Amino acid sequence: MTNVHTAEASAGASSELKDLYRELILDHARQPRHFGSLTDATHVAEGVNPLCGDRLKLYLKLNSDAHIEDASFEGIGCAISLASASLLTETVIGKPLDDALASGRTVIGRLTGDAAARSAPSEKLAALEGVKEFPMRVKCATLAWRALQSAADGSMKPVTTE
Ligand code: ZN
Repeated sequence: MTNVHTAEASAGASSELKDLYRELILDHARQPRHFGSLTDATHVAEGVNPLCGDRLKLYLKLNSDAHIEDASFEGIGCAISLASASLLTETVIGKPLDDALASGRTVIGRLTGDAAARSAPSEKLAALEGVKEFPMRVKCATLAWRALQSAADGSMKPVTTE
């Protein structure tokens, strides 16, 4: 693993989370999981974050029980947007769509400071919360999750963070 040099000085429990955050983000950004289109997708949505130039397309394959059988994404963007989309696909595959959407609401809620979203997400998704320290990047991190909501709605309109 390459060392990541930053100017941050931190201590205590939050630095552990920050390390986890940094490692996970870099790992997923370098090697996005489930990257590419899904030819038999049943639901597709696009997300655009004009502020940063992130552009994602999310593919879902739902079975007749409304379980997400497969998911993938493609697009271009910064490390955080790619890592978040990669984590999303890992999180939602094999889950009922409703559970996936609940995870999405938690991630978006916790990143945007929605008091209703108090329940802690999985450790992996909690790592995304490190982004909160960089308010400009919150939209990068939530983009894929907004696209998930849009895909579930069946709306073909691209979601935009602006
Ligand atoms: Zn971005």
